[in-house]
Amino acid sequence: MKIICYGVIKMEEKIIENWAQKNQVEIKIVHDDLSADNAGLAQGFDGVSSEGNLPVGASVYEKFKRYGIKQLSVRQVGVDNQDLAAAKKNGIKITNVAAYSPRAIAELGVTDAMYLLRKIGIYQDRMDHGDFTYDKSTISTEIFNCTVGIVGAGHIGGASAHLYSALGAKVLAYDPVYDASLEPYLTYTDFDTILAKSDIISLHTPLLASTENMIDKTAFDKMKKKPILINVARGGLVDTQALIAALKNGQISAAALDTLADETDFYDKKNMLNSLPEDYKELKAMPQVLITPHIAFFTKLAVKNSIEIALNDAKTIISGGEVNSVVNL
Ligand code: NAD
Repeated sequence: MKIICYGVIKMEEKIIENWAQKNQVEIKIVHDDLSADNAGLAQGFDGVSSEGNLPVGASVYEKFKRYGIKQLSVRQVGVDNQDLAAAKKNGIKITNVAAYSPRAIAELGVTDAMYLLRKIGIYQDRMDHGDFTYDKSTISTEIFNCTVGIVGAGHIGGASAHLYSALGAKVLAYDPVYDASLEPYLTYTDFDTILAKSDIISLHTPLLASTENMIDKTAFDKMKKKPILINVARGGLVDTQALIAALKNGQISAAALDTLADETDFYDKKNMLNSLPEDYKELKAMPQVLITPHIAFFTKLAVKNSIEIALNDAKTIISGGEVNSVVNL
């Protein structure tokens, strides 16, 4: 069996090689993420795995169909960059890795919240200028005195609720799907109550037509406590222009963004500061905004699990078996 693995970074190679050896599968490693430009490399392979950070369209699945490939195993939770319907039409089963380490993402969200709450970025900037002062603008709040609003209490939102409640915060959550096991850690409520009552709002829904721009001007207008907004889910959940306005007019006090609405041109690239779109440049320049380059998933355990689970699923499908991670049935 031969599998081609796109979007592999150097440190992942050893994990892939170990899996290949253990499973007697031949693997070709490609460092670039899967795209229309490099989909042709898959010819002659039985299956495909990729990171999913770049948009993949119908032409890629059409090529796979011609090559006799029947699956694409994405090593991520989010499959918003895949055209699921086009893949289905071409007989390509897309699988994701629903939970490789929800704690990895949840821990970055909590770290960001603490960083912004305690104004670490502002103090770091002052230290860079030899400024040892503190003042009214940098006074903080203890996290145990905060109300945290989780939007989307699935794997990652649930793990975030565990962490915040362990720190003593009051945790509210909005999710149309009820999970009784989370009751010890959070109180379910509606979206508007989350917006009105939270000091920290943490987003953990997938990017869907129904969640795109769910944090827009109307939502910011309902935020009453000048909250910190944490987005370690998908940039498209937040209307960027409305976010900039809310930061400027003080409707929210700070924001942490691990994901931006369109990362296609700069994801995992260097020296991008001057080529960033104007709105991201504006966000980047704000002292109360923390941007990280979509690395919430990037822990040793998460990387190992995402590779092994995706490749196990690829192998099972290629061998004619069934997996429960197919997202475009
Ligand atoms: P999940 O499917 O376990 O949970 C998502 C939850 O959102 C579900 O409980 C669902 O019912 C809920 N939901 C759906 N629509 C909603 C709405 N309109 N309002 C409120 N809740 C809604 O997914 P997860 O594993 O927790 O991951 C969540 C998202 O995090 C992923 O889809 C992905 O986009 C993102 N993510 C980001 C990174 C990163 O590195 N930054 C890594 C992994 C996942």
